[in-house]
Amino acid sequence: MPTASLIAVGTELLFGQTVNTNAAYISEQLQLLGVSVLYHFTVGDNPGRLKQTIEYAFEESDIVVTTGGLGPTQDDLTKEVLAETLGVPLVYDEEAMARLTAIMNDIGRINFTENNKKQAWVPAGAAVFYNDAGTAPGFALEKGGKTAIALPGPPREMKRMMLQSVIPYLSEKSDAVIYSKILRFYGIGESALETALLPIIDGQTDPTAATYAKEGECAVRISSMRRTKEEAAAAVDAAVRRAGELAGDYLFSTEDEDLPQVVYEILRERGLTLAAAESCTGGLFAGGLTSIPGASEVFDRGFVTYSNESKIALLGVRPETIECFGAVSGPCALEMAEGALSRSDADIAVSVTGIAGPGGGGAGDGDGGGKPVGTVFFGIAYNGKTEVRERYFRDRGRRVNRQVCVLEMCDFVRRKILEEK
Ligand code: ATP
Ligand code: MG
Repeated sequence: MPTASLIAVGTELLFGQTVNTNAAYISEQLQLLGVSVLYHFTVGDNPGRLKQTIEYAFEESDIVVTTGGLGPTQDDLTKEVLAETLGVPLVYDEEAMARLTAIMNDIGRINFTENNKKQAWVPAGAAVFYNDAGTAPGFALEKGGKTAIALPGPPREMKRMMLQSVIPYLSEKSDAVIYSKILRFYGIGESALETALLPIIDGQTDPTAATYAKEGECAVRISSMRRTKEEAAAAVDAAVRRAGELAGDYLFSTEDEDLPQVVYEILRERGLTLAAAESCTGGLFAGGLTSIPGASEVFDRGFVTYSNESKIALLGVRPETIECFGAVSGPCALEMAEGALSRSDADIAVSVTGIAGPGGGGAGDGDGGGKPVGTVFFGIAYNGKTEVRERYFRDRGRRVNRQVCVLEMCDFVRRKILEEK
């Protein structure tokens, strides 16, 4: 696997005035090409330090990519320093000059200064990448088995050049392709998932599997780099099947879909419709599901019943249930789901009532009756059966707490339908 280091050039980056977003973009693109990124350097517009950085980066990696400092001004010196460091002279490029002249004529720039002309010089022997979004050309230069790639600093210009020129240039040289899949899991923590997947994580060089936690769920990226896409895909698919054997109970997508999307598909495939009764999520579940195109096929209606009175009036929850157990309780969640099912045209109904925080159990936040933040009850009514789930989530702040409730509702619906048939 070829290695690369990235050098972002510009004093404004060191001052913190500009965020180095180019580094993230370039790294991601290189990674997709099967190039392993070893270092990110950031250096100011200083020729001595830039030269040192370039030398060090070349000692450590096969490819050095620079971004910034290709423009017409005095402080733009990346090209000059790169050429000097690699011992390559700068030569005048006719095509670059012709393009520069055309741009200057277009914008009616009469004082076409010497500064500007500086952009028509490129290192001898370089593959020049003409800039479709600006004036300064970029280039790739090979010397002694190493490759230098220089890109402009403005993100729009850099991205264009990356897509139009650098990716084709590097993939032509490379004889490997990367294939990867993202698996999504719910109901298992990251470290538990990693433990479960150890057989495909530990000591594996290809395919590789890396877990990462998302809000309330976990994802695993499985990647393989082989000579052909078919070989890489076969290796990844085998690892995906193995992951299914090891942690299939929590696996809800092998195609990087989110949980509401998966619920939508399960409902659609079976021709089922859903209703939701929401207290602490205030319609967030309905919002998530209906943001999917085609949701009208599967989503019948949502009841946002925040107050006790609305739970009684809209869903037929019995006042005694709330009096005896509180609105945040299993019996209330159950009656909410039953009410949503009987008062709608849906085949399945899901409900939620809980304490999203930060205050625990006050009136207006679902009447928690002194229960701690993160206490949530879920109900489901389907196929003549009902079920309640009780959860005590770690308090992660109101926004995340509510989001996790939505995921839990999705998970409840998904599991219930899958276990019925
Ligand atoms: P120009 O022809 O515009 O001078 P250049 O290649 O010389 O291009 P710089 O002068 O280094 O690039 O940067 C131009 C602008 O691009 C900066 O002001 C900054 O807004 C943006 N920029 C530069 N480097 C980065 C980076 N690494 N990440 C994000 N933005 C950057
Ligand atoms: Mg500049």
